[in-house]
Amino acid sequence: MDIQDIKQLRMEGFLPLKYDGYFRIRISSEAGKMTGEDIEHIAYISKEYGKGYVNFTTRLCVEIPWIKYENIEKVKEEIKNFNLLLLRPRHKFPSIISCGGKICTNGIIDTKDIGEKIFNKYKNCNLPGKIKIGIIGCPNNCLKVESEDLGIVGKRIPKIIEENCINCGLCVKSCRKNAISFSNTKLILNNSKCIDCGKCIEVCKFNGIIEEDIRVSIYVGGNILKLKDKKGRPSTLYSLEEAEKIIDRIIKYYKKHGKKKEKFNNMLDRLGMENLLKDLEGYI
Ligand code: SF4
Ligand code: SF4
Repeated sequence: MDIQDIKQLRMEGFLPLKYDGYFRIRISSEAGKMTGEDIEHIAYISKEYGKGYVNFTTRLCVEIPWIKYENIEKVKEEIKNFNLLLLRPRHKFPSIISCGGKICTNGIIDTKDIGEKIFNKYKNCNLPGKIKIGIIGCPNNCLKVESEDLGIVGKRIPKIIEENCINCGLCVKSCRKNAISFSNTKLILNNSKCIDCGKCIEVCKFNGIIEEDIRVSIYVGGNILKLKDKKGRPSTLYSLEEAEKIIDRIIKYYKKHGKKKEKFNNMLDRLGMENLLKDLEGYI
């Protein structure tokens, strides 16, 4: 095995370990989702050709280490037969992470569904380099999407219906941001404190607070995306349909303006956020 062999194997997704003759591979999930069947196949490969364990990467891929050089051809065959997606350096599709989404008690949007759609739409689009996307189901933001190139946060917008409120105070107790309070018997919502988590809506059994809308915030390069709507009003909340269009536009912008092997955040640094915002004008 010479340097050229190793270079070729790297291109095929077999990354050398620091122990001579051993390699690791990474299998991609679909935005963090994997079927039981895929997991069984991965377990089989790791037991048969590795040391019987796997590592989970921060980008929600599964890594199988300790594959011997002499087993590489067999592993390639197994991966092909099991239809697993082996990550290779030339694969330039969005790297997506997401939380449990709607199955979580706090989940507002279906992060897995959104992630799968983005993954399948762009998995063959051959981007210039890496773009990291994080999708989170509620404003608790357990994935910290501000550190992603593109982040989507689910939000549930509350609306007070005064005539239904019986002043039980449950919503006030449920709000961890102290965004609701009583002024005498009138319920007041402090919009500057409210993070649109929807907990108050969930606890109210009298429709004193109802869901006005489900929206998302979008973060680009660590900053919240502020666009003007068609009437010229600034907005930081978007419908899921609007978000889909905005994400599509941002990925196309990267494909068009990113240089070969340039990461999305480096492109943003080079071209500036204002140019991207100009490109997004009129999108909502
Ligand atoms: S939980 Fe509902 S009924 Fe009770 S104070 Fe809040 S809005 Fe009013
Ligand atoms: S949506 Fe969340 S943050 Fe806003 S008032 Fe209700 S409980 Fe508080």
